[in-house]
Amino acid sequence: MNLKKYEYWFIVGSQDLYGDETLKQVADHARIMTEEFNSDPVLSGTVVLKPTAITPQAIRGLFEEANASNNCAGIITWMHTFSPSKMWIQGLALNRRPLLHLHTQFNRDIPWSSIDMDFMNLNQSAHGDREHGYIHTRMRLPRKIVAGFWQDTKPRRRIDVWMRAAAARKDGMDSTVLRLGDNMREVAVTEGDKVEAQIRLGWQVNTWGIGDLAARYAKISDDRAEKLAEEYAARYELAPELKQDGKARTAMLEQAKIEIALKEMLEAEHAGAFTTTFQDLHGLPQLPGLACQRLMEQGCGFGAEGDWKQSMLTRAAKVMAAGLPGGVSFMEDYTYHFEPGKEAALGAHMLEVCPSIADGRPRIEVHPLGIGGKADPARMVFDAAPGPAVLATLIDLGGRFRMIVNEIETIKIENAMPKLPVARALWKPYPNLSDAAEAWIISGGTHHSVYSAALTAEYFRDWAEMNGIEFVLIDRDTKPARLQDELRRNDAYWSR
Ligand code: MN
Repeated sequence: MNLKKYEYWFIVGSQDLYGDETLKQVADHARIMTEEFNSDPVLSGTVVLKPTAITPQAIRGLFEEANASNNCAGIITWMHTFSPSKMWIQGLALNRRPLLHLHTQFNRDIPWSSIDMDFMNLNQSAHGDREHGYIHTRMRLPRKIVAGFWQDTKPRRRIDVWMRAAAARKDGMDSTVLRLGDNMREVAVTEGDKVEAQIRLGWQVNTWGIGDLAARYAKISDDRAEKLAEEYAARYELAPELKQDGKARTAMLEQAKIEIALKEMLEAEHAGAFTTTFQDLHGLPQLPGLACQRLMEQGCGFGAEGDWKQSMLTRAAKVMAAGLPGGVSFMEDYTYHFEPGKEAALGAHMLEVCPSIADGRPRIEVHPLGIGGKADPARMVFDAAPGPAVLATLIDLGGRFRMIVNEIETIKIENAMPKLPVARALWKPYPNLSDAAEAWIISGGTHHSVYSAALTAEYFRDWAEMNGIEFVLIDRDTKPARLQDELRRNDAYWSR
């Protein structure tokens, strides 16, 4: 996944009152900043400097050009001098790209002994950016504001969080969720408005028959499956019965064929994400388990039981996390540990947890599955690596989407669970297990979520903001009763 291909247009504002000398200095400074941004590995995207913005016509032209550009994933504005913001109204009104308002200044320090009125005229972002921010607020524009000195790491990291969220939005605009089968029967929370998803997020959420996958599956040769099994043996540990001539090897080879067939189908349909359901597997020997884990590891979004919203969100998180340490996986809250002082939640799924979150080397095993009535599926088994992580989910409230994020701390699993052959994660949610559960449930959160050790809540907040989606955070400071009030106020805001 190459995030450098995404361009972030840097539009520096000024006006023509200052004269050519000042405007030349503004342009020089912007060029120096752009070069430094592009040589800093902290920033995942490419910053592209545009001509200094000094007239309403030119500003409108820049935003029109950005809308038409297939490479532009977002726009960064900064007012080096004062730039009257009525000049920006037409451009901002038609802008379709995520917006970041960088509030900085070129010089770090006040040059005490030499400062004069020329310096003051040139370095005015302290007030120029306030004029600029006002018009964003007045026009109720979604945006991120990053304030701080542009050479410091902290603001650059926050710019990168936004860049990655914008890359995920751009990816979604060109993406499809390939739904194999419908949602699990009678389940409410995995349903949703697919038309609204496409209007808001760009994602095309469409269905394909499981027979199309079964037909592809039937054509995959044993040789290709064996070749993929060599890769499995190199990357993961294999249970003894899965090695050459082992009695359960066939089950693993069937998953290898499903992986190849699914991958072919995803590529043919330009799909970045997919869903399966155990209630619609006609023509397949097993529920795709190992195959889903492998495809998630390669960057695909995935949702089980037809959960296309979490599949989409898993893909968005995969794009945001590209190249970062930690992993991203589809996840489900499964069961609780209520022992006083050691309260924790055990997350897992029937099979489909991504090995990017594993602590150590995953092990491929074959076991019966008590649901779905198919052959025993192969799957990877592992514990998730300890450390800070987040759970994020997307729900449909009827007419709009809500994103809910819970900050958690994944902990080491001290007890062996020899009879539980699935990948799992054990975590302590913030602020604590019972308050987090109450807060999640009152927000309408699903049992399905996206688990990420690579991302923080800020990534999801930025992604929600630029997609026009409500964002609810459950963290150290959350009080369920206060959250309930917040949600009711949010209802008023979002029903505009
Ligand atoms: Mn599930």
